[in-house]
Amino acid sequence: MASRTMRDTGAASDGRVVDIGASYFTLSDPDFTVAIDGLMAQGIVRPWTDAFHVAGPHGLEGVRSGPMRYAADGGLRSVVSSLLHPAVKVVFESEAGEVTGDASGATVDGERADAVAVCMPQPQAARLLAGAPAAAMWEPVIAVTCAFEERTWPVLDGVFVNDDAVITWIADDGMRRGDEAPVLVAHVHPVLSARHLDDAAAVIPAAIGAVQRVLGIRDYPTWVDAHRWTYAKPLAGSDEPFLLHGGGFVGLAGDAWSGGPRVEAAWLSGHRLGQALATRLAMSD
Ligand SMILES: Cc1cc2nc3c(=O)[nH]c(=O)nc-3n(C[C@H](O)[C@H](O)[C@H](O)COP(=O)(O)OP(=O)(O)OC[C@H]3O[C@@H](n4cnc5c(N)ncnc54)[C@H](O)[C@@H]3O)c2cc1C
Repeated sequence: MASRTMRDTGAASDGRVVDIGASYFTLSDPDFTVAIDGLMAQGIVRPWTDAFHVAGPHGLEGVRSGPMRYAADGGLRSVVSSLLHPAVKVVFESEAGEVTGDASGATVDGERADAVAVCMPQPQAARLLAGAPAAAMWEPVIAVTCAFEERTWPVLDGVFVNDDAVITWIADDGMRRGDEAPVLVAHVHPVLSARHLDDAAAVIPAAIGAVQRVLGIRDYPTWVDAHRWTYAKPLAGSDEPFLLHGGGFVGLAGDAWSGGPRVEAAWLSGHRLGQALATRLAMSD
């Protein structure tokens, strides 16, 4: 749920936030629905759309209805920060190197903690935690943001692009965010993304060409950015809500658990792990 501020665009979109990670989220679990209802009441989250276009490599083919997708005018990152309890102190840009657990608690880089929740893709968790379960295969995605001078494509919210070797999805970030800015975010096909993990910017020309081809756009974007997600999507997940590890005071959560791979699964997994650790800590008092 990553939102980036667009800088040096030389246009009206300068300083605007764009969603470069998850495109939206859906609701089905009652607990997650209650949490999101609260954010909707505060105007942070809103229903976006229940219909996306579908396209082939050469253009739009139709519209497909589905569940309601939710978005945030302030970008999806604002959903995460709004859910944070004000008493929680967050330390940013601090990379953990080693997590251990024993029968009485846990440590992060040698610092003692009552309990530790490791909430991230499994390959990243496995680097921190000796004896963590083997990571499943994960698919990469490169997200390419294209800001245009004006809207010259049909009115739509997003497009699933099938059978294309370059892109799989285009989101209209202006429609998603509600400001109608002429900004599109395309997801590069996992096979092509995997080939360019060391140089994400190299896919930009092909991604622009694919967006123009699929949406019939003649203009070139005035500002482009490519962001690499090495671990975008687990190819296999577990229906287990989370995993307790190393003496029971270290938990693994994320969207490879709770039936993933979605924002809702990641939230549910972390939420349930938090409840389990709180119960365990209360019992050990
Ligand atoms: C391009 C893309 C599109 C997506 N689209 C959708 C969608 O449309 N709908 C949907 O529901 N889901 C979507 N998803 C999936 C969704 O984003 C994930 O399910 C969700 O963000 C997972 O949350 P998480 O907290 O488990 O992990 P993450 O969001 O990956 O968070 C893990 C955090 O841990 C941090 N971290 C990792 N290692 C360390 C370390 N050693 N020390 C400190 N911090 C560390 C990372 O920096 C990161 O901030 C998409 C994902 C991607 C990448």
